[in-house]
Amino acid sequence: MIFARYEARGKTALGVSNDGKGFVDLTTLSGVPGDLVGLIRDFARHEAALKGALAAKPTHQASEIRFLAPIPSPDKNVFCVGRNYKEHVEEGFRARGQETKLPQFPQFFTKPRTAVVGQDDEVPLDPKVTSALDYEVELGVIIGKTGKNISQAAALDHIFGYTVINDVTARDLQRRHDQWFKGKGIDGSCPMGPVVVHKSRIPDPQGLNITMRVNGETRQNSNTKHMIFDLKVIIEQLSLGMTLEAGDIIATGTPSGVGFAMTPPGLLRNGDLMEAEVEGIGVLRNRVKQVG
Ligand code: MG
Repeated sequence: MIFARYEARGKTALGVSNDGKGFVDLTTLSGVPGDLVGLIRDFARHEAALKGALAAKPTHQASEIRFLAPIPSPDKNVFCVGRNYKEHVEEGFRARGQETKLPQFPQFFTKPRTAVVGQDDEVPLDPKVTSALDYEVELGVIIGKTGKNISQAAALDHIFGYTVINDVTARDLQRRHDQWFKGKGIDGSCPMGPVVVHKSRIPDPQGLNITMRVNGETRQNSNTKHMIFDLKVIIEQLSLGMTLEAGDIIATGTPSGVGFAMTPPGLLRNGDLMEAEVEGIGVLRNRVKQVG
């Protein structure tokens, strides 16, 4: 099952699809929540209705759809893992002229919900705010089952599905404040989508190609098998003493190839087109737009 929130024929819909081409609008079905988090929270109860919907004729074709952020205003900040691919950790220390230190435990931060945008939304670049805007393609995990102190063995059972996240970062703010939240929390800095793919379609989330293209040029090109901390460890460590709830979102870190670490740096400019892609999920497209 593939889930999408979208606009078509002047209406906002929540759709489900078998193939990502034709979507059945769930907002026309009675008794099924019209938002994805509502559906996730009560998924078992609605599964039969979803299967019925999938057997019906699609209400919308992908070609007539404008995709929106699948979870446009999460109840909590989006959880993020920093420094989770070895080559990305190395490029970061190298760019700062420091010796590489790999983390012993996952490093967490969050992005506020006001940062969330969807497919084809513009990512603002305000010169009063930053002159060092950068991209980071990441596999996004959507939690499906609430839990606390989740073991590695049980971790994957707590996942509902997957999306693509671009952890857009203002590197100058990140440095100035000497932590991640400020530089990664600005409005428009959490593109997400275009869809959420149910976990049943992704049998091995640790074997997905993950790429970022800027204006068609491949900047990041890796595979989720290269994560330092895999999804099981991330969920175990994040849920230690802290409840993870259905509908929570985790961005799981970015591979090497980010703009600030390039020689010369390849930071984002007005008009740049970012295409973040994770195998089996889709391509998340956003253009940088200078504002202010
Ligand atoms: Mg990141």
